[in-house]
Amino acid sequence: MRSREITQVKPRHMMSFDVEEHFQVAAFWTAARRREWDQLTSRVENNTRKIADLLSEHSTKATFFVLGWVAERHPDLVKDLAQQGHEIASHGYGHELVHTQTRTQFREDVRRSKQILEDLIGRPVGGYRAPSFSITSQTEWAISVLIEEGYRYDSSIYNRFRSTQGSTVTGGGTYQLKTEAGTIWEVSPSTMSACGLQLPVAGGGYFRLFPYAASKMFLKNLEKQGSQLVMYLHPWELDPAQPRMDGPLLSKVRHYLNLGKTEQRLTWLLRDFSFAPINEVIRPIRGIFEGQEECGHAVV
Ligand SMILES: [Zn+2]
Repeated sequence: MRSREITQVKPRHMMSFDVEEHFQVAAFWTAARRREWDQLTSRVENNTRKIADLLSEHSTKATFFVLGWVAERHPDLVKDLAQQGHEIASHGYGHELVHTQTRTQFREDVRRSKQILEDLIGRPVGGYRAPSFSITSQTEWAISVLIEEGYRYDSSIYNRFRSTQGSTVTGGGTYQLKTEAGTIWEVSPSTMSACGLQLPVAGGGYFRLFPYAASKMFLKNLEKQGSQLVMYLHPWELDPAQPRMDGPLLSKVRHYLNLGKTEQRLTWLLRDFSFAPINEVIRPIRGIFEGQEECGHAVV
């Protein structure tokens, strides 16, 4: 019998980056530092272009949730990412946590960033991710505002450390949320069920904490269970030379942990898994963008 080569098709997962400056993270937020933003040295463009180069080396496209504040100051970066085939989505304008804003302030924030990004790339922006995944059961009203402001999917609900008891959504996942304002797709970062809890494995500090071999094992297990991974990182996580900020000890430990290892780990991740932008992977979302909305479950 003649042998034949079988090309293994890897499942496509979702890779995303929250594009913000290292000094804008919520863990170090103070009113005084907020007033200094325009005086601090920007590092976001170089770090994001480094990521774009890595993605290009692996022929991979991703979703970039860009802060409106950053887009105003680095318009060519946003245009270049879009031109390279990446999805541009919104990370809000001023990186304010959702529960620190009124409904009106939140609406202005997400409207402003959407407008800035759409003006730059000349096409609709459909995705949103809140700073620090700050849409929770206390701020569910934010989902209605996103629908009213024309967003088609949200990626702000991260059920980390929640009990898996009675939960219908494990391993992150994509599902529809229905509100009085209408329906929106939720694209939750991946978690792993263990010890009755949903443990975060999708990126950020957790990806920097675990050795790559452990992350790979967790993610391969999720893949075998049929989960589609939703991963996230920040440009500052690939920048070990960033200036150190003062803040609470725990914040410093979490923020500066293993920054020198992230780039290599991301390279391995891109080698070992197949990724694409959110609006390409989730067919119903893709349908919305193509003007052919599909109903029912997320078929990928
Ligand atoms: Zn952020």
